[in-house]
Amino acid sequence: MTNPQVVLKPDRDRSVKRRHPWVFSGAIKRAPADLEPGAVVDVVFADGGFVGRGTFNPNSQIQVRIFTFDDEPLNDEFIVQRVEQALKARSGLVGRDSDSYRLINSEGDGLPGLVVDRFNDYAVCQAHAIGAYRFRHTVARALVRQLDLRGVLLRSDTQFARSEGLSGKTEVLHGQAPDEPVTIRENDLPLAIDLLKGHKTGHYCDQRPNRRLMRELAAGRRVLDAFAYGGGFGLNALAGGATSVTFVESSKDICDAIRRNLRLGDHDESRAEVVCANVFDFLSSGSDRFDMVVLDPPAFARGKAQVKDAARGYKEINLKSMRRLDPGGVLATFSCSGHVNSDLFQKIVFGAALDAPAKLRIVSRLFAGPDHPTSLFCPEGDYLKGLLCQLP
Ligand code: SAH
Repeated sequence: MTNPQVVLKPDRDRSVKRRHPWVFSGAIKRAPADLEPGAVVDVVFADGGFVGRGTFNPNSQIQVRIFTFDDEPLNDEFIVQRVEQALKARSGLVGRDSDSYRLINSEGDGLPGLVVDRFNDYAVCQAHAIGAYRFRHTVARALVRQLDLRGVLLRSDTQFARSEGLSGKTEVLHGQAPDEPVTIRENDLPLAIDLLKGHKTGHYCDQRPNRRLMRELAAGRRVLDAFAYGGGFGLNALAGGATSVTFVESSKDICDAIRRNLRLGDHDESRAEVVCANVFDFLSSGSDRFDMVVLDPPAFARGKAQVKDAARGYKEINLKSMRRLDPGGVLATFSCSGHVNSDLFQKIVFGAALDAPAKLRIVSRLFAGPDHPTSLFCPEGDYLKGLLCQLP
C-alpha cells in the first residue's frame, strides 16, 4: 500500500533526522492538496528517501505527527500494539494503592497527541490532534480488551484540540458515561472525580507521587495547598499528620469538590479550611504562617509570547509564599508551562528567594510520575517541573 507523500525541504530535515516526531508546516516543500485531515502519510526527504509515517493535518502548525520511523503499516493493528505496549509498561510503575493513573502519555508512548487516564473502572481519553482522534475507536476497543472497564470517554475540549479543528464534544466510546463523580483511590485516599466537567481528563494524575511525598513530610506542619483543585496535596498532608491544612482555590464549584473529598476520606475536618479565593490576593492580604506550602498553579504561559508575564506571576506567588514560611519550612513549587523550562523556572524561584529574602535551598527536584513517560526524542512532553525547597 502506498500512502500520499509529504516532501520535506532539503534544509529543514534536521529535526526528523533526530527522530523528532513533529513536522511543522514551514519544513514542508510539497504535500498533496486534497488530503483529509487525519490522513496517513509518508514523510520523505527531498530526494525521496523514507523518513517516517504519520498523520496529516493541514489545519495545524504541526502538519504531520510521525508515529513510526520504520517502514511499517500505520493501521489499526499498529495502534492496538502501541496501546498494549503502553498498558504492559505500566505494570509495577504504579503502586497497588492507586487505581488511577495515566495509561497512555502521547509521544512518550509512541501515540502522538493521545492521552488516556484510568479512573477506577473508567478510562478518559483526550485527543490533542486529529490523527489521534481518527484512531479513537481502535484505542477504545484495545483498552476494553485489556482492562475491566465500565466506560471509555473521549474529551477533546482543550484549546489545543480546537486549534486542530476538533469539535470539543465529549464522546462515549464504550459503555456509559457515569452520572455522578467517580470515586478513585490514589495513594490509598478516596477522591471523587468529575470525568465530564473536571479539568483535563478529570484529575491531574501527574502529581500522584509528589502528593505522596508531601504526605511523608507533613507531620506536625501547618500546610498551605495553593491552587488546590480537588485538594490532592492537602488531603495527603492531612493523612500524613499535618496540624492544619488551608486549601486555596478560586473556583466555587471546585471548593465544594474539596469539601466533598474531605468528607469522602473521613478526614479530620477540624484541621482543614477551604478558602475560596485568588491565591495572589490570599498571599498579599493574610498573615498566617506555614511550615509547608504547595504551589501548583495552572500553566501561566500557554505560548511563547506569554513567558514574560508568566515569569512575573510565578515570581510573585513564590516570593510571597517564602515570606509566609517559618524556619525549617518547605516549599514545593511547580510549573506545568511547557514554555517555561526547568532552568528558567529555577531562575525565577532564585529571583524570588533573592528578593524575599529567603535562604532557601533545593532539597529535591520534582517531576511527573513514572506513568507519564516522555520521549527522549520529543522533550516538549516534559512539561511538569517542581522544586522542593527548604528554609534552614
Ligand atoms: N494542585 C492540584 C491541581 C491544580 S490545577 C492537584 O493536585 O490536583 C490549578 C487550580 O488552580 C485549578 O483548580 C484552578 O481553578 C485554580 N486556580 C487558577 N487560578 C487561580 C488563582 N488565581 N487563585 C486560586 N486558584 C486558582
